[in-house]
Amino acid sequence: MSAQPKIAVIGAGIGGLALAGFLERQGADVTIYEQARAFLRVGAGIQMGPNAVHVLRALGLESMLRRRAFYPQAWTHRTWDTGGHLADLVFGETAEKQWGAPYFLMHRGDLHAGLFETVSPSRIAYEKKLDGLDRIGDGVRLRFADGTSAEADAVIGADGVHSRVREILLGAEKPKFTGRVAHRTVYPARLLQGEPILTCTKWWGPDRHIVIYPVTPKADELYFVTSVPDPSWNVESWSAEGDMAEVRTAMTGFHDEVQRVLAASPSCHKWALFERDPLPRWTDGPIALLGDACHPMTPYMAQGAANALEDAAVLARCLANSSQEGVASALQRYEATRLDRTARVQLTSRQNTWGKAGGDTSWVYGYNAITTPLLAERVRAAI
Ligand code: FAD
Repeated sequence: MSAQPKIAVIGAGIGGLALAGFLERQGADVTIYEQARAFLRVGAGIQMGPNAVHVLRALGLESMLRRRAFYPQAWTHRTWDTGGHLADLVFGETAEKQWGAPYFLMHRGDLHAGLFETVSPSRIAYEKKLDGLDRIGDGVRLRFADGTSAEADAVIGADGVHSRVREILLGAEKPKFTGRVAHRTVYPARLLQGEPILTCTKWWGPDRHIVIYPVTPKADELYFVTSVPDPSWNVESWSAEGDMAEVRTAMTGFHDEVQRVLAASPSCHKWALFERDPLPRWTDGPIALLGDACHPMTPYMAQGAANALEDAAVLARCLANSSQEGVASALQRYEATRLDRTARVQLTSRQNTWGKAGGDTSWVYGYNAITTPLLAERVRAAI
């Protein structure tokens, strides 16, 4: 037996790339298997809170963030029609001082591209859609849709909200459709053809909202994302097209600032919002889940990717120096360290009240996955 375990990561998304980036830096033997043909720059805007930035900093990406992202001084919550002020979450230098890392707003594609750079290209195998996993001795055989296979000492399912690894581990799960959809897009701010608008704002309506923010340092690209009731649509996909006329109708009566943003937007995507309950566990022997594969959440706290990044940092720490024989216990330490936090964020996000009345945000933004104590394995029954 070699002392160095062979780690297979399924999915080159935000969590999978971050994990592989850390493992490669630790000198581990890691390969990512990704179903896509090549790296795809998908998605729209993304918020990276201080808890996410601690992880990105450890991967050497802080200077990229400062070059590519917008640095907000505050986040403002307003009433949908009058624009009345509800609360501010203060960011900028204050956040940096308080939590040791800044808050950034950026294009998801820039984040993904930055993470992609932290992994050697030779470690990513494309067009490898995972189909099945078989336990062989202490390890695992991976079977792919193209008929090929591979072997590893540990498999990490970072394969997103429709995770095949989760399905293999825990059985098929029927998520609950919230009856709501998110419309979102990024477009050039020059299309507004006028004065600057109020950005970094969440506009709260009675049963719907819209979030608007810039995603570049110069604020020359603008992002919005809604949450709107729409029981007729249930497709969770980054690429499904939306209809701007439908969005404008859905946001009738919202403040003029919102109307200007919607009027200038040429197109949007549409993503159905599903709910899933926190899992009681997500590892089994040499197989574990990470990110949306184990704790998919509504986007209302902007914490899904942040928590995938936290998972990656904690899992890499648990795996550091672990021998082939020690892999299963490293995965259990990871689960024990992460389970309560991710469940709390998942359940808080579901409520969709984050920041509306201000309140203490330090339990979310003050978490540092690079230094948080690693817990011991929990005693638990087999899956
Ligand atoms: P993903 O990034 O989805 O990656 C999964 C990867 O696995 C993909 O590359 C996929 O191709 C691959 N894959 C899937 N199945 C297989 C298979 N069988 N074999 C091989 N490869 C496979 N989070 C934030 O932190 N801040 C925000 O502001 C924010 N805003 C959001 C707004 C909206 C509207 C939504 C819907 C989400 C938002 N999120 C936000 C959440 C965030 O996008 C996700 O939590 C994050 O992308 C999860 O990362 P991941 O690595 O777990 O999965």
